[in-house]
Amino acid sequence: MIIKLKKEITSQELESMSSYVKENVGTVKLVRTKEGQYMVCIPQEDFDIRNIGKWAGVEDVFRVNDKHKLVSHKWKISPSSIQVGENLSISQEQFHLIAGPCSIESEKQVHNTAAFLRKQGIKLMRGGAFKPRSSPYSFRGLGLSGLKFFHRIVHDMGMLVVSEILDPSQLDEMYPYVDIFQIGARNSQNFILLDCMGSVDKPVLLKRGLSGSLDELLYSAEYIFSGGNENIILCERGIRTFETAYRNVLDLNAVPYLKERSHLPVFVDPSHGIGVRRFVPTMCMAAVGSGCDGLMIEVHEIPEKSKSDGDQTLNFREFEILYQQIKSLRKGFYN
Ligand code: PEP
Ligand code: MN
Repeated sequence: MIIKLKKEITSQELESMSSYVKENVGTVKLVRTKEGQYMVCIPQEDFDIRNIGKWAGVEDVFRVNDKHKLVSHKWKISPSSIQVGENLSISQEQFHLIAGPCSIESEKQVHNTAAFLRKQGIKLMRGGAFKPRSSPYSFRGLGLSGLKFFHRIVHDMGMLVVSEILDPSQLDEMYPYVDIFQIGARNSQNFILLDCMGSVDKPVLLKRGLSGSLDELLYSAEYIFSGGNENIILCERGIRTFETAYRNVLDLNAVPYLKERSHLPVFVDPSHGIGVRRFVPTMCMAAVGSGCDGLMIEVHEIPEKSKSDGDQTLNFREFEILYQQIKSLRKGFYN
C-alpha cells in the first residue's frame, strides 16, 4: 500500500498516522522526494484502505500488491516524466538518444564527437570517465579531469552529460559535471551506491545487471526511489546466457514487460547488448520496434582506435544512417 501525503501535512498528523499504520497495518517507510511524500506500507494481512483515506494529511491511498511499490504502475498510471537539466524531459511519451563514446579519451575526441552529435540533433551525450573494466590492465578512464573537459565541451554545445559513477565516494566531485548519473551493469545491485543515488537531485540511468532478473532491476530502482529520488530511467543492456556467439543477449522482452510493470521510462543499449558493431543498427531498430523510450548508442570517430568497446562502436557515418532510419521508423511520433 502507498499512502501519498499532502505537501502541507503537519508533523503531528504525520506522527499519529505513522503510529496508526505501524499498529494496524504493518511495516512502514516514509519516503520524501523532491516531488512528493509517501508512506510505503507492507500490510501483514488484508487491510481496508478506506481506513487510511479519511486521515488528515492524506492525498490518496493506493493498494499495490506488486513486490515493487513506488516504481509500480499499479499506483501511478501515467508515465513518469524525468526532467534533465532545464529544458529536457524523458518519459514514456518522448523518445531520446543518448550517444557518445564508451570512454572519454581526449579533448579533441570529445570535441569532434560532440560537434557531430549536435549537428545530428542529439541532446544527451554519454562518455565514461570512470570505467569499470574486467581487467585492471585495460583503460580505466581519465577520471575527474576528463569529466571536467567533457562537461565543458558538451555543455558549450548545448547538450547534457551522461556519465557513470562507480562509488559513492565519487559523488561530490562528479556532481557539478554530470546531468544523468549512470549506474552500470556491474553496480546494478550495489545497494550502498543505490542508496547514495537516492539522495541525489539528478536523474539516474539504471542498467540491468549482467545476470540480473527484471525483478532485481525493479528492486534496484525501488532502492533509489525509496531513498528519495524518483528520477530513474531503466536500461536494458543485455544479459549473460549460455550463448557465446556475441557479447550479451539483448533481452527485448524486457521492454514491454518493464513498461507494463513500471511507470518509469525504459531505454535500451544495443551496443553493449549485442557487442558486435555490424549488428548494432539492426538491434537498435528492433529495440525501437519493441517500444522503448530511448536508446543508448556508442559512437566514435574511429572505432578501431577507441580505447574501450571499439568492437561495438559505430562510426559517424554508420550512426548518421541509423539515426535517419530510426527517425523514419518513429515518423510522426519522434520528437
Ligand atoms: C558503459 O555504458 O560503457 C558500460 C560499462 O555499460 P554496462 O555497465 O552496461 O556494461
Ligand atoms: Mn562501453
